[in-house]
Amino acid sequence: MTARPVLEAHDIEKTLGQGAAAVRALMGVSMALYSGELTLLRGPSGSGKTTLMSILGGILAPTSGSIHVAGQCLSGLSEEVLAGVRRKDVGFIFQSYNLFPTLTALQNVTLAGTVQFRRVKEASDRAKAALEAVGLSSKLNSYPAQLSGGEQQRVAVARAIAGGPSVLLADEPTAALDGENGRTVMALLSHLAASTPCAVLVVTHDERTLPYADRVISMEDGRIINEQIMVRDGASRYGQGAALHV
Ligand code: ADP
Ligand code: MG
Repeated sequence: MTARPVLEAHDIEKTLGQGAAAVRALMGVSMALYSGELTLLRGPSGSGKTTLMSILGGILAPTSGSIHVAGQCLSGLSEEVLAGVRRKDVGFIFQSYNLFPTLTALQNVTLAGTVQFRRVKEASDRAKAALEAVGLSSKLNSYPAQLSGGEQQRVAVARAIAGGPSVLLADEPTAALDGENGRTVMALLSHLAASTPCAVLVVTHDERTLPYADRVISMEDGRIINEQIMVRDGASRYGQGAALHV
């Protein structure tokens, strides 16, 4: 199951805000994401999960420390080059689906791809394939308001995978969904991790996501406090593996 790390973070520190209001949101975080795996990043609200995800995806620069994505070091890149890395190698999924209400599912996914692929035909072909991969080929022409929350999140997943990223980063993707829709989205993300070269990171404090994890990283107060590999045990789909470090 485990292949090579497609993303490596080394000794990440991040201070947010200034002066008396400064918060040390991350204090020496090192971690890796592996091709073929779904990693859960858990921790209480305010523990630094979103800050870490934003840094891993090159949206936010760390105060110190280094990130490598698909072999490329993100430190010192110009904003233009960094934007290119994000487009090519990183797919983002958020709690709110952020779909344009006046565009169909297909148009939403195609629009995101036109920046990367320039040719609308290629973006549209990739969008169709991505919507098929998330089980929505019958809803290409539906508008967001005509889709359930789970379906809208699957459109957002299609938008994130259409460009063939190395890493898929999802921040609380099930938080707005009921049980069944949440399970559908997690099963989809787990399937994508297993069936594509993509490494998947799900930031969550939703316990229902646990059965879908290959690896679980727990954060508290800006630090990683535990990392566990989850092992398939046949009976229940996954059992808990050994703690790697505490
Ligand atoms: P989580 O996603 O785990 O809930 P965050 O990464 O959003 O945590 O936040 C980590 C810490 O950084 C929290 O203490 C939060 O209040 C603080 N924080 C987040 N964004 C900012 C900001 N823009 N300015 C100052 N502090 C911030
Ligand atoms: Mg958060």
